[in-house]
Amino acid sequence: MPFYDYRCTRCEHTFEELVADREQAVPCPECQGTTERLLPNTFAVGRARPKPAATPPCGNACPTPEACGLQ
Ligand SMILES: [Zn+2]
Repeated sequence: MPFYDYRCTRCEHTFEELVADREQAVPCPECQGTTERLLPNTFAVGRARPKPAATPPCGNACPTPEACGLQ
């Protein structure tokens, strides 16, 4: 079962909960208020713009970096 991060919409308490059903509503342990599930951290990382790859000497004419002698 995966862990999910939740944040209370009332008191903004954040906590981690082990849930079997990801659609299951998890009440806030502090105030029993409604919570929203936070997106996994990997999502935020995935949104980060990746560094552009260095252009090989051939200007990407080679089918693989190895053919260009880069690796
Ligand atoms: Zn709360």
